Amino acid sequence: MLKRIHATFYLGTHLMIRFMKRLAGRPGKGAFLRAYATERLVPLTHEEKGLLEKISRCIACGLCDLACPATVNPDGTFPFFGPSALPFLSRSVPDFTAAPFSPKTCGECRECEKACPEEVPLTKIIEFIKRKFEEVRR
Ligand code: SF4
Ligand code: SF4
Repeated sequence: MLKRIHATFYLGTHLMIRFMKRLAGRPGKGAFLRAYATERLVPLTHEEKGLLEKISRCIACGLCDLACPATVNPDGTFPFFGPSALPFLSRSVPDFTAAPFSPKTCGECRECEKACPEEVPLTKIIEFIKRKFEEVRR
């Protein structure tokens, strides 16, 4: 009998607490996003998730590096990586700011895409990185 009273009291109390929390207002999506923003984790759109699937087609052959004119410029463009690093870099949004690579240097000539045997959408990846880079800096 005592156990039953205890269980009823316990459940009733927690039900009341839950109900009062709901009345006070839930933190909502904004608070959820702010909590993750401190880790530089920003949400992906449905389209961006589809892009990540296409990125996984990369076989790391390096042909896009050979085709990219920016990799041979003496002015510091692609100082450590060519476009073949883009599929790898795009997998971790929180690391964009630490990556030794600036997609701003891309001349958007699309030669890398033409050379890619797997049709990896490299210029879309550059746009994606630029966009997410700005979002994590906000
Ligand atoms: S689009 Fe950009 S990354 Fe691709 S080949 Fe041209 S300069 Fe290089
Ligand atoms: S050419 Fe295409 S498959 Fe090869 S490394 Fe570049 S993106 Fe990957």
